[in-house]
Amino acid sequence: MAPRPMIAGNWKMNGTKTMAIDLAQNLVARSKAAASVPRIALCPPAALLETVSRAVSGSPIVVGAQDCHPKDKGAHTGDTSAWLLKDVGCTYVIVGHSERRADHAETDAIVKSKAEAALAAGLTPIICVGETQSQRDAGKANDVVRGQILGSLPSSATATNVVIAYEPVWAIGTGRTATPNDVQDMHAVVRETFAKGRTDGADLTILYGGSVKGSNAKSLMSVPGVNGALVGGASLDAADFWAIIQSVA
Ligand code: PEP
Repeated sequence: MAPRPMIAGNWKMNGTKTMAIDLAQNLVARSKAAASVPRIALCPPAALLETVSRAVSGSPIVVGAQDCHPKDKGAHTGDTSAWLLKDVGCTYVIVGHSERRADHAETDAIVKSKAEAALAAGLTPIICVGETQSQRDAGKANDVVRGQILGSLPSSATATNVVIAYEPVWAIGTGRTATPNDVQDMHAVVRETFAKGRTDGADLTILYGGSVKGSNAKSLMSVPGVNGALVGGASLDAADFWAIIQSVA
C-alpha cells in the first residue's frame, strides 16, 4: 500500500527561539484547522528541539533532528545521541544529509551506524542519498544512489521503520529542481534497490528534496513514486511550507 505522504522541514542552522516558537505555532494552528494533513515533521537545530517539541505538542506535527551520533553516550564533545533526541521529543532524525556528508566527511558506513543508532533508540531515520552534478554529468547518478542506499541502510531496516530522501546535491538550496522525469526514474531506482529480496518495497516512504517550494510542489509531489518532500529553505516560511503541505494533503 502507498505510504501516507510526508513533508519534513529541515531548518538547517537557522532560527532563534522566538522564531521557532512563532513558526511552529503558526503551523500548529493551520494543521488543527485543516480537514486533513499528511505526516509533518519539523527538524530544527539541536538547541531548539525541545522548544519546538513543546510548541507542537498535542498537534499532528512531530519533531525530527538533523543528525545523531552512532554511540549512546560517552566522550563525544558536541555530539548528541539518538537516545537523547528521543528523550527530548523527537520522532525522526535526518542522517546522511549531503551537507553533513560534505562538511563532516560522513561516509555511507558512518551514516549506516547513525541510522542503526536511531532505530535502536526508537527513532525513524530519514536517510539522505543523492548524486552531485559531476556524477550526474558522468552518467553515474543511478550507481551512486544505489551504492549509497546499499551502504547506508541498516540490515534491520524495513519499509516502515526508515524513510529515504532522494536529494540531488546540485538541487539543494540552488533553486534548481530535478525534472519530474528524472525524479520518477530515480525514485524507481531507490525503491527497486531497497526492495531487492524483500516484499515491502511498495510501503517505503521516499521523499524528494531539492529546492521544493509552494510554487513547484504540486508538480513534484504528483510524480509517481514520490511520497512527499524534505524541504530546506522553504520550510522557514510558514505560508510557503504550508503550501507544500497542502500539495499532498
Ligand atoms: C535540504 O536541505 O534538505 C533541502 C532540500 O534544501 P532546499 O529545499 O533549500 O533545497
